[in-house]
Amino acid sequence: MIAKTQKTYKNLYFDLDKTLYDIMSNTKQTLIELINRYISELNPVISEFLDFYYQKNEELWLQYRNGELRKEVLRTKRFSDSLIKFGIHDEALAKKLSTAYINESPYKTKLFPNTIETLEYLKAKGYRMFLLSNGFLEVQVIKIRESKLEPFFEKMMTSEEAGYQKPHQKIFEYALKTVNSRKSESIMIGDDIDNDIFGAKRFGMDTIYFNPEKTKQTIQPTFEISDLKELQTIL
Ligand SMILES: [Mg+2]
Repeated sequence: MIAKTQKTYKNLYFDLDKTLYDIMSNTKQTLIELINRYISELNPVISEFLDFYYQKNEELWLQYRNGELRKEVLRTKRFSDSLIKFGIHDEALAKKLSTAYINESPYKTKLFPNTIETLEYLKAKGYRMFLLSNGFLEVQVIKIRESKLEPFFEKMMTSEEAGYQKPHQKIFEYALKTVNSRKSESIMIGDDIDNDIFGAKRFGMDTIYFNPEKTKQTIQPTFEISDLKELQTIL
């Protein structure tokens, strides 16, 4: 049983993707629509294609994070490599898919269960709430507007404007300084054990690990939850 914290937090920093915004469901829905529209011959192997795409996307994101790949390359290459794997050598099609994906996926609005009611609860309790994301600003802006998350947050901060990605301690420093938060009164809430939890913890911030799959981890967060509504017990 999770007990109420004895500490007085004032500032809550939320990760967006896979923490509040169900990017996996939204991505999947978009990709299925795109495959049906542009490459229906892949329909019989759609789940294999999606699995390959997810793996490729993650691989390329890692390279992007390490500064080895530009954003524009990442965006098209995840499609061209996936198409090639399935025997389709068509760079123009990859570009078309990439553009359509970027235009359409941010308009998908599936959130994790209990997101809105929990944010309403936290807002009513007077917490200052912020988003801290490694995602691309122009995409994240659409997602939070379309999924009705925007009114809950005082500010969204991204790695692009900070110049550093989570888990780098400079992005946490930036996130506190920009809105005059004290480290001791702030807590980071996120699904990524390395970027969100290890990063914030090393920086010296308390953490809440959102772990819906209940995976075993060696890094200890301050709190761990598997459903967002548990935040109402802690905070
Ligand atoms: Mg995340």
